[in-house]
Amino acid sequence: MTKGKEKQETGWNLDNSYARLPESFYTSLNPTPVCSPELIIFNDPLATSLGLNVQDLQSEDGIAVFAGNQIPEGASPLAQAYGGHQFGHFTMLGDGRAILLGEQITPLDERVDIQLKGPGRTPYSRGGDGRATLGPMLREYIISEAMHALGIPTTRSLAVVTTGESVIRETELPGAILTRVASSHLRVGTFQYVAKWGTVQELQVLADYTVKRHFSEIEADESRYLSLLREVIKRQAMLIAKWQLVGFIHGVMNTDNMTISGETIDYGPCAFMDTYDPATVFSSIDVQGRYAYGKQPQMAGWNLARFAETLLPLLHENQEHAVELAQDEISDFPKLYHSYWLAGMRAKLGIFNEEVEDESLIEDLLSMMQKYRADYTNTFRALTFERHEDTVLFGAPEFAQWHELWQARLGRQQEPETSSHQLMQNSNPALIPRNHRVEAALEAAVKQGDYSVMERLLDVLSSPYAYSPEQAEYSTLPARSTRPYRTFCGT
Ligand code: AMP
Ligand code: MG
Repeated sequence: MTKGKEKQETGWNLDNSYARLPESFYTSLNPTPVCSPELIIFNDPLATSLGLNVQDLQSEDGIAVFAGNQIPEGASPLAQAYGGHQFGHFTMLGDGRAILLGEQITPLDERVDIQLKGPGRTPYSRGGDGRATLGPMLREYIISEAMHALGIPTTRSLAVVTTGESVIRETELPGAILTRVASSHLRVGTFQYVAKWGTVQELQVLADYTVKRHFSEIEADESRYLSLLREVIKRQAMLIAKWQLVGFIHGVMNTDNMTISGETIDYGPCAFMDTYDPATVFSSIDVQGRYAYGKQPQMAGWNLARFAETLLPLLHENQEHAVELAQDEISDFPKLYHSYWLAGMRAKLGIFNEEVEDESLIEDLLSMMQKYRADYTNTFRALTFERHEDTVLFGAPEFAQWHELWQARLGRQQEPETSSHQLMQNSNPALIPRNHRVEAALEAAVKQGDYSVMERLLDVLSSPYAYSPEQAEYSTLPARSTRPYRTFCGT
């Protein structure tokens, strides 16, 4: 097959700039072929936006690429090396169950990573098998696509295939591979790896590569590495504010799971909060609550401090001065985060202008929600439509008082009520991937081979601000359970 013909047929237009970086940054290797791949789900709109041919990719040859059985032209498959602080402890990690095929150059001339998750062992697999299972890969597909639809920067999911092989976990499970699309897989942990085991020159190569790929606007800055730190801090502040505003709990905010691009990555034990409570933790392994909902901003700040440390040799030749420069930037994170969060909360309440008392108005609402165990998403939804009877806050004396204050506040801005309502509708999702809905979709898919439940769920989640009638049933809460919802890492 000629290159031109292949490009025309499938649309793959791959390069791998990462493979041109120093050899210690990665290991070149091919995925381990699997016996009988089957396409379970394919993301048509994403494929189209990447310049891929939707029909051809779903043919046998197309699917073979998603299974790791065929390498598309232009790919130079590799596993990336990285380190990371896992629950506060630094270790060597790397792509133990992922292989980067290359970077797709899109019709808009953007460069995005195409990575297989679950393609077999790599030199970074340690004791693992390098494989993934169907349930967790579909879960990543559902939640990452829901995040995208919510307007939150995230890696995307292009396809999930089953491999026809079993994977041994606690039980035997169907093996699967997810094709992940990311603006890059550069992580805080990538910098930690090079800072610890590489030379300063290699660190500079990595930083230059990062600037070129993600922050070209600062390329000409005199102190570009300090600008890099500032920009990464800004993107993370924006990202974490968005998480908090929709009640997303990542669950495993280790430094290897924090991207430099500012995209959400690594959908393991993540889940959305129902009842508002800052102490909410879903992950079964987060026994200390290190990554609880209310701690996410603080933990992001901690991770960014680790990132700043890696850049010290590039910030200034005098180490003390370098530390001062880095600390200055890091100390901005809480303020930046808070300003993004506050702006988002104002929007959730239909507020356009700024008043000092807005913060206490917001805090009072959140305290009430916590006290009465109100559902986070549905409370804002009910406020948006003035359907107070839909919230458990309705009837509480302090709610009536709060509501009066809020209405008075809305009266003190020029924008008419209709604009406020529109702002609220655009800022408060009518639905989120409710845990019981996700579980039901996965159960039907994995246990019965019935993908229709998942497909319907994906469909309604694709427009979370539409408030369409068919979405209504997806807003209902699960039956009260005596056991809290738990998530697992999904390896
Ligand atoms: P994660 O918890 O997904 O962030 O992964 C932490 C580390 O464990 C990374 O280096 C992964 O590549 C590695 N890992 C996770 N699952 C597997 C697996 N099944 N086989 C090999 N390595 C794995
Ligand atoms: Mg990870």
